Amino acid sequence: MRPLKAVLAFVAASASAQPIVVDHVTYVDPRSGQLQSNQTLILENGALRRGAAIPVIARRVDGRGKFAIPGLWDMHAHIGDLPSGWEELFLTNGVIGIREMAANQQHWAPQVQHKKRNVAPYLVHTIGSIDRDGPQAVPNAAAAPSLVARLAKQGVDFLKVYNALTRESYFALAGEAHRHDLPLTGHLPDAITAIEAAGAGQKSIEHMDNILLACSRNEAGYREIFVRGQGLTRPQVLETYDPAKAEALADAFVRSGTWVAPTLIQQRGDTLDQSILNDPNLQYMERGWLTEWKTGLSVLRDLKFERRWFDKHREILQIFNRKGVRILAGTDSPAPFCVPGFSLHDELELLVSSGLTSRAALAAAAVNVDDFFGRPHPPTLVLLNGNPLTDIRNTRKIETVIADGRILLRKDLDVMLANTKRRVLASK
Ligand SMILES: [Zn+2]
Repeated sequence: MRPLKAVLAFVAASASAQPIVVDHVTYVDPRSGQLQSNQTLILENGALRRGAAIPVIARRVDGRGKFAIPGLWDMHAHIGDLPSGWEELFLTNGVIGIREMAANQQHWAPQVQHKKRNVAPYLVHTIGSIDRDGPQAVPNAAAAPSLVARLAKQGVDFLKVYNALTRESYFALAGEAHRHDLPLTGHLPDAITAIEAAGAGQKSIEHMDNILLACSRNEAGYREIFVRGQGLTRPQVLETYDPAKAEALADAFVRSGTWVAPTLIQQRGDTLDQSILNDPNLQYMERGWLTEWKTGLSVLRDLKFERRWFDKHREILQIFNRKGVRILAGTDSPAPFCVPGFSLHDELELLVSSGLTSRAALAAAAVNVDDFFGRPHPPTLVLLNGNPLTDIRNTRKIETVIADGRILLRKDLDVMLANTKRRVLASK
């Protein structure tokens, strides 16, 4: 296990701060799905405890009528590409942690600075995707050891593999990841079957496109076409979908402990349905980003097919969930129409509409994160004005965010949003 730098720093920083006491609150346990009413929650010395000995000197938060959940994590985002101020969009949405899935090299330095400050939103991150070409190139197996050694030295928390890796490069990377005790995560490379990735110890598979290929009756043949770059069409993959393969894959993932971050909200962006275009949260995106996103609209595409492709993602996820595959909530923000922070709540809704219970969806953005990393993260709380277990949309009704020794009340969160809006209006 790697040292828990972020948590230790958090403990040190908060030791001097006054404890925070939230009283008369209903605590929502995302593991058990139990509601515990009239609780006194005490955040002290980097730990969350309940009940009895209430510190004499403490900052108090009135929890009456509120539901307390752990702070949320966006387990697939690319904040390194966002303009400054991105933290506020996440915090106002109760997102206190981010798994940064590979910013480009040029944005790496500010991220490291942020990480060193160890303030919420907490970051767990890597530098760039590892692919056959590009800045983190592994064109062959021999190139794997030096690259992984360099990334480990630079302090990445995990490795992210990408689509065009050859088989020999991929398996060499898996070996090096193991040697450096770095989790191997990322896309399912075109040349690797999902079963092989699970067997090689890939800890998480991001997105579900290549999982659809893995569920095709003609997977082997199509994969070959794909690897040769001969333009395999997605309709072919969809037409040959075999639910029995999805079931078998789910069993394999459960056996190997392979996690899936489906990023449904990112995939939904391709369907361009009206609710996406009318999303009021688009007001918080800078104009340059909106222009870029909307440019995608002009590309001719078969939206009916995109809808079917998206729905197949959800169908497979339903099978995965029923079989017990572990799921992470991530957004791929700022992918088109995935507004940072807000889109995590969209993802939770999509997870529920794909068969997860509200409890399971909540866990995918909270306690699953600790399970995935195999270590606890700093305790944080979000107070809601509604029970998220009866309606997952209640995660949007945020009254207070408590993280990192800070108490952000609704009025503070509104100031943050107003700041963001001002910045957006001033942007080009
Ligand atoms: Zn991504």
